[in-house]
Amino acid sequence: MSHVPSHVPSHLARTSSDAPGPGTVPGTATGTGTRSGTDTDTAAAGHESPSAQDAVLDRAAGVLVAQAAGDSLGVPYEFAMPPRDDELAVMRGGGLGPYEPGEWSDDTQMAVCVARVTAGTTSVGLLADDATVRPEALDEIAAAFEAWRTGGASDVGTQTATVLRDAARAQGSPATRLTAASLALHRATGRTAGNGALMRTGVVGLVALDDRAATARAARAVASLTHADPLAGESCVLWCEAVRVAVTEGRLDVRAGLDLLVPEAKDRWESWIADAEQPEPQTDLRENGFTVTALQAAWHAITVTLEHDEHLVDALHAAVRIGGDTDTVAAIAGQLLGARYGESAVPAQWRDAVHGWPGLRADDLAALARATVARGVRHGG
Ligand SMILES: [Mg+2]
Repeated sequence: MSHVPSHVPSHLARTSSDAPGPGTVPGTATGTGTRSGTDTDTAAAGHESPSAQDAVLDRAAGVLVAQAAGDSLGVPYEFAMPPRDDELAVMRGGGLGPYEPGEWSDDTQMAVCVARVTAGTTSVGLLADDATVRPEALDEIAAAFEAWRTGGASDVGTQTATVLRDAARAQGSPATRLTAASLALHRATGRTAGNGALMRTGVVGLVALDDRAATARAARAVASLTHADPLAGESCVLWCEAVRVAVTEGRLDVRAGLDLLVPEAKDRWESWIADAEQPEPQTDLRENGFTVTALQAAWHAITVTLEHDEHLVDALHAAVRIGGDTDTVAAIAGQLLGARYGESAVPAQWRDAVHGWPGLRADDLAALARATVARGVRHGG
């Protein structure tokens, strides 16, 4: 999460003249635990063969498990000196918590708050049968954030902390109070596109595996609880659609959701994505407390390591090396890498090490992700 004031740097307001990159990055990594680019399982679980369904569920579990691995890997370096190019990050804890080795931070803690609702642990899931977002589910997520703030948060991002503090003084249902507080903050400052919604959004990409419009609605709704700025919602729409595509089709495509944005936003994001794909982006990716730069940093780490045999592992190291909000950028990258390569591609050493509030381990995260798929909406299944 961002501990620095969220803002839109002036150099990001311009339109990049960089040539657009390829629309789709095919999954070509072939290392241990990775999948070939020949996936044919193209629909949500329920339509395909048992092995294809297992693959979908492995990739769904990867969303939260690889997020946790990236988070824990980045924790020691958050707003500190990142590893050099010739060094590997070490999951040694410390950071702002301070955290135990392998312990995840607020990014994954808040993702768990969301995942317990999407998994139906606390009710019947995020979406109604008609694929609309259930207001009661948003209340449950908001209430979970509030309970986490007072009963488990080891560190809280600046913007999220402000929203939760202001909401606690208001009247009404939890989602109503949080949404109002985030809107009020946005109106007062105009700067509420911190990376704190994107860092927890991956699991939302699992709530409607065969419905991209419903996925986008869910992404915006969950983001808006704490982040009223449209940029935050847009970043979550893009990342959730990329997660959905990665889980169902086994490929990496951050542009898959561009048509789910309003036209002006689509053009802006196209240029931001293209810049992130450059070996040396014009954007200073170290300034990644901003949701746009955080997405760019995560995508940059993924694209510059695309041909590596151990893509998931090397991309997470690359994400941490960018510096700044290292745990958050690696958590965001982990969501999509896990969606593409699956829980089975997360090294056993990392998988065994990761743990955190509220007393969960990798198996628990995997179960929450699989339950989210099972609880999610299905059409024609
Ligand atoms: Mg964190």
